[in-house]
Amino acid sequence: MYVIGTAGHVDHGKSTLVKALTGIDPDRWAEEQRREMTIDLGFAWLTLPSGRTVSLIDVPGHERFIKNMLAGVGGLDAALLVIAADEAIMPQTAEHLAILDLLGITHGIVVISKADLVDAEWLALVQDEIADQLAVTSLATAPIVPVSARTGQGLDALRATLDQVLDMTPTRSVAQGMPRLPVDRAFTIGGFGTVVTGTLLDGPLRVGQEVELLPQGLPARVRGLQSHNAKLTEVLPGNRVAVNLAGIHHSAIARGDLLALPGALRPTQMIDLRLRVILAAPQSIEQNMRLDLFVGAAEVLCRATLLDAEVLPPGAEGWVQLRLERPIAVQRGDRCILRIPSPSLTVAGGTIVDAHPPRHRRFRPDVADRLDTLARGTPDELLFQALGDGAPQFWSDVLQASAMTEAIAREALDTLLANQRVLALHDDPVNVTPTVVLTPAGWAALEQRMLPALRAFHTRLPLRRGMPREDLRQRLRLPPRMFTLVLGEAQQRGLIAADTVSIWLANHDPQPTPAERRVLDSYLAAMARTPYGPPTPDFDAELLAWMLERRMLIKIAADIYFLPGTYAELIEWLRVTISTAGSVTVGQFRDAFGSSRKYALAFLEHLDERNITRREGEGRVLA
Ligand code: GDP
Repeated sequence: MYVIGTAGHVDHGKSTLVKALTGIDPDRWAEEQRREMTIDLGFAWLTLPSGRTVSLIDVPGHERFIKNMLAGVGGLDAALLVIAADEAIMPQTAEHLAILDLLGITHGIVVISKADLVDAEWLALVQDEIADQLAVTSLATAPIVPVSARTGQGLDALRATLDQVLDMTPTRSVAQGMPRLPVDRAFTIGGFGTVVTGTLLDGPLRVGQEVELLPQGLPARVRGLQSHNAKLTEVLPGNRVAVNLAGIHHSAIARGDLLALPGALRPTQMIDLRLRVILAAPQSIEQNMRLDLFVGAAEVLCRATLLDAEVLPPGAEGWVQLRLERPIAVQRGDRCILRIPSPSLTVAGGTIVDAHPPRHRRFRPDVADRLDTLARGTPDELLFQALGDGAPQFWSDVLQASAMTEAIAREALDTLLANQRVLALHDDPVNVTPTVVLTPAGWAALEQRMLPALRAFHTRLPLRRGMPREDLRQRLRLPPRMFTLVLGEAQQRGLIAADTVSIWLANHDPQPTPAERRVLDSYLAAMARTPYGPPTPDFDAELLAWMLERRMLIKIAADIYFLPGTYAELIEWLRVTISTAGSVTVGQFRDAFGSSRKYALAFLEHLDERNITRREGEGRVLA
């Protein structure tokens, strides 16, 4: 349900317009309230041509408007700024527009009312003036629609325009499960007991739910809910709602209190905000100035500490810490307005970036840094965002992407690590700074690519110890340093095993099939029969590789393999013979074992290569 609030100078025709659009007379609300079963929510509603129903909040009187406007801040989807054609922009129009701008209301329509009172030329002038003023505000793109409640001119166009604007307005009815109801009225109705009204932020709010009234910290229970005169068991965010509370007397509740789930919020007396002083502000904001803070439905006096400026003149922005005269319940991201108390005039507005800050000293760069970060999101959130899809990234890159100072980012990382939202991989276990960071989802995605690749490799080449490291690295498309860390982590998790050349699944133990085993046994038996002139293997290269890997055979040259025992025996013979005779020739070696020249030469060349022997003249000596 969209909630639209009217704004505009007194007597510019807001109530008349609401009545013309909805058929509900705002002036009759007080009377309806007296009827026992009807709870006055202070709004009318209408069905647009699209079939969509919207709430229209209209509050007579400038001061009441300001308070209601602010009370409904979080609950307003769009604004209807009403400007009378005959008077055009008046002081209250400007102030309301400034407030809408400060509150970041970007959706809305400007209605030029009483169009019947002026001629077309005048109307065009008024229209131009309005467009100029809107251009620098959050409502810069708001359509301008002339209407007359008296003649009915433009009303259909207004309804259609409302639909168009709402088509582009995201609905806020996404419930995060943390209902907050800034209380704009508390009263009692015979037979009902205590009732509070407000626009629900977040949600949902349900009948039977235990709630807490803040800042008092009083417990209560939701006995009943009403919205649009209908009884409901659940209300979604963005709706005007009347809550019937059990366990609390209405005299304990004041306008400006907040209804929330027990323990969800902690009241505060100090807040940090990013403040913007409106161009039309009657004066600059000075250090330690007394101001009236409006946030949610609450209004509280406070003093301002300007953290990064001597003074904030009209149009300026800065970091401000407010010390409040009494505690209120707010949270980060809440929008607020500051007015000078007398004469009561809007001077600035802003967004809360820290609802529970420590007391700051002025002109401290580290304080400004921290607030800058918080304004963009909490450091944890920003850091988490910088991780993107969670695939492994070098910490140095993440740090850069997060645009945070290292100290703040490290603190955020510690939180994310503690909450297991991030994994850190270290080059050097002593160094606390991670080399690579990724998320559990990013890790899962890596496993999804790594493990099936290895499984496929084992299926294709079952006798192979594992996949060559470089093959896997390229499949995972990781830079070498990152790949090494990822492998280390996978090994630590017991998923894989690796040596310097290959990688395999932890449980992979390549074994020949019975048929292969028979081939292998008969080959080994043949070798044992002619150990010095062994037969050339005539079977599958994979089986041969498996035997070599297990050192059942030792490769001498292409097609020449020896049994390990024979290999050792030959080396031993050479050592002994060379040390007594001085050297050994190929012929001597061949004759001693009755092998062929081919084998003798290959063996000695193999030993030369391995720096066991070397040629000297006709024979070999020990290297
Ligand atoms: P609000 O204070 O902004 O709510 O203004 P009201 O709705 O009470 O209207 C103020 C005065 O303007 C009333 O006397 C209305 O009759 C008159 N008015 C409102 N709309 C129109 C209109 O479209 N044409 C003319 N001529 N008068 C209007």
